Amino acid sequence: MQRSEQLFQQAQKLFPGGVNSPVRAFGRVGGTPPYFKRGSGPYLFDEDDKQYIDYIGSWGPMVLGHAHPGVIKAVQDAASDSLSFGAPTAVETELALKIQQHLPSMQMMRMVSSGTEATMSAIRLARGFTGRDKILKFEGCYHGHSDSLLVKAGSGALTMGEPDSAGVPTDLAKLTLTLPYNNLEAVEQLFAVDGSNIAAIIVEPIAGNMGMICPVPGFLEGLRVICDQHGAVLIFDEVMTGFRVHIGGAQGLYKVRPDLTTLGKVIGGGLPVGAFGGRTDIMQCIAPLGPVYQAGTLSGNPIAMASGLATLTALEAPDFFQNLHAMTHRLTEGLSSLAESAGIGLSTVGQGGMFGFFFSGQGPVSNFEAVMAGDADQFNRFFHSMLDQGVYLAPSPFESGFVSASHTSEDIDRTLEKAERALQSL
Ligand SMILES: *Cc1c(COP(=O)(O)O)cnc(C)c1O
Repeated sequence: MQRSEQLFQQAQKLFPGGVNSPVRAFGRVGGTPPYFKRGSGPYLFDEDDKQYIDYIGSWGPMVLGHAHPGVIKAVQDAASDSLSFGAPTAVETELALKIQQHLPSMQMMRMVSSGTEATMSAIRLARGFTGRDKILKFEGCYHGHSDSLLVKAGSGALTMGEPDSAGVPTDLAKLTLTLPYNNLEAVEQLFAVDGSNIAAIIVEPIAGNMGMICPVPGFLEGLRVICDQHGAVLIFDEVMTGFRVHIGGAQGLYKVRPDLTTLGKVIGGGLPVGAFGGRTDIMQCIAPLGPVYQAGTLSGNPIAMASGLATLTALEAPDFFQNLHAMTHRLTEGLSSLAESAGIGLSTVGQGGMFGFFFSGQGPVSNFEAVMAGDADQFNRFFHSMLDQGVYLAPSPFESGFVSASHTSEDIDRTLEKAERALQSL
């Protein structure tokens, strides 16, 4: 870790916490984050030449693994034709058509440069479309770091123990209502009282930023009904789940059609891309067609579009998601049975190339409260043992894990051997 330690010390003088995004600082688990210089398929190599099996995948985008030849070639070809025009290109239309083919609810869309931009813009659009100010989100769901959405948020906000950020005006935060995930009754009660003032419900259709939590049967369907009854916009934040849990996203998996969808992560294949889109009548409210303003100098950047297009094209291979799901399942089932043998209460969940594990005692974890009841100390010791053994897991119990199409059953089995050692030492 010598070189990583040096680099981290130097970085702390330049970047708050030494990092450019908070969870990277290892604040929750302690220790020095490895500095990476190279990735290949499921493997990462740090500055001290230590090799890791990667289960973060840049927090989701690297669904094909690192340095996928088809994606690298597409990026190199596009780069040689200029890095940016700030003007329309054919490739942005090609990518949009491919997205729409798999998520037909996205009748129109707009490309942006991050997930945060996508959700922030979708919220503004929903407010502009309905003429209402309030929005509903769920505790522990993370929708990027814009002011309206940084209320009872997950991911880094939770990891740092600050689900509500300083600097968000109270008057604005008041307009963001929050309820427990998976509690449809609470949503019904809220809408019975305040429904005519609520512009939108925004939800992670599979929560991935308080660990991974699946929706209970009927939850998403119920949100659809409530939004229809009250004229509110249903926004599925699929920045994480889009092209990650199923070729059609969580909306394809559960067959619930949102009014608006936000995307990011996988659709850029590792370059900065986001998108939001949905019903034509709503999207037509966006400038230049309508009064809701939204813009971006680098939106639809041709290199990023080429990277996304090559990534989504590779996802269309026959049985891609079945194989990915099977590999994820091999990992989660393996972890569950190892924990059981070691007498440790671990609950696991996986879908497509996304997984979660909670040191939760027994039983399924279905909301934020249950997540918070997990054993933080066990998580930390497990994390560090795995890192020592060359397995790179998210340094927080409030993040999901990611398996890529480049992970083989041998990679998974080697991971499980290391996990057995880690679990026995707890
Ligand atoms: C990662 C994430 C975001 C934010 O995307 P950034 O590209 O980090 O701004 C928003 N919503 C969800 C569900 C995410 O997982």
